[in-house]
Amino acid sequence: MVSVSAAPVAGYRGRLAPSPTGYLHVGHARTFWTAFERARDAGGTLVMRMEDLDPDRSRSCYAEAAIEDLRWLGIRWQEGPDCGGSFGPYAQSLRRAFYLAAWRTLFQRGFLYPCRCSRRDLETALAAPHEGNPAGPQGKGEAEPLDDEPLYPGTCRPAAGRGCQNDASDIGRPDASEIETPGGVNWRFRVPDGEVIEFEDRNLGPQRFVAGRDFGDFVVWRRDGAPSYQLACVADDAAMGITEVVRGADLLKSTARQMLLNRALGYRDPAWFHCRLVADANGRRLAKRHDALSLSALRQRGVTPMDILSGSCLAEET
Ligand SMILES: [Zn+2]
Repeated sequence: MVSVSAAPVAGYRGRLAPSPTGYLHVGHARTFWTAFERARDAGGTLVMRMEDLDPDRSRSCYAEAAIEDLRWLGIRWQEGPDCGGSFGPYAQSLRRAFYLAAWRTLFQRGFLYPCRCSRRDLETALAAPHEGNPAGPQGKGEAEPLDDEPLYPGTCRPAAGRGCQNDASDIGRPDASEIETPGGVNWRFRVPDGEVIEFEDRNLGPQRFVAGRDFGDFVVWRRDGAPSYQLACVADDAAMGITEVVRGADLLKSTARQMLLNRALGYRDPAWFHCRLVADANGRRLAKRHDALSLSALRQRGVTPMDILSGSCLAEET
């Protein structure tokens, strides 16, 4: 049985967490370089964790390319799927036991409820006018974060004051102790409506989100049997003893969600350092579909790691 307790560690531990769903691009390179520099300058350890949870979109060829591209850039890590370490396995597809343990703890503590809404149900509910804040706290109207999900309208949420774990009528009213594994339904984390989630980002300064307004009850386990990004990330960062998370600013809102999960699981928050997103020459945020700006393509055209890290390779694009 996997424990849900956080790993005791001494010193700085950072991580690189690529998703092998496409080739890495210039934006990833700069974020990962920052993570590398911060771990190196702190005299700490850098962990490579392959976030290959999505069985439909993850490809081993992309995982191999990510490792090759990051090494070509000059980034070095001390633990990872290619070099091992004492906090492994280092691929999320091999860490299901950790996620199940976290799910079970959240469930037993009453933070979760089953949701049977279909995608169409959610689209219908969301078509009605509602108050949202898609631009986030900066109000810059950046592209919708990749990990984001629409504000959940609360259709399946148990009434206030009732424990979530005993309100499983949706799935045949089993006793909480009888539910050993999630499956067949989406499991949502009930957020404390109106609570202000604040944190000091080491790069972007003070951040502020309101639970229930900026984000709603979010999925931690999907009906297809996979844990969500939020749950896996929190479980791994704790189990791997990560002390600082360096990642793109598209994940700021996820940080607020993950702070709630950390609190519910009894984990200490790591420090947060979110990097500004890189835009192309037209001001659009880079995405994995920008194949021309993938590291693999740039490298084949003779672009150097210095060109990529300085951003001069972006100016050449039209
Ligand atoms: Zn629902």
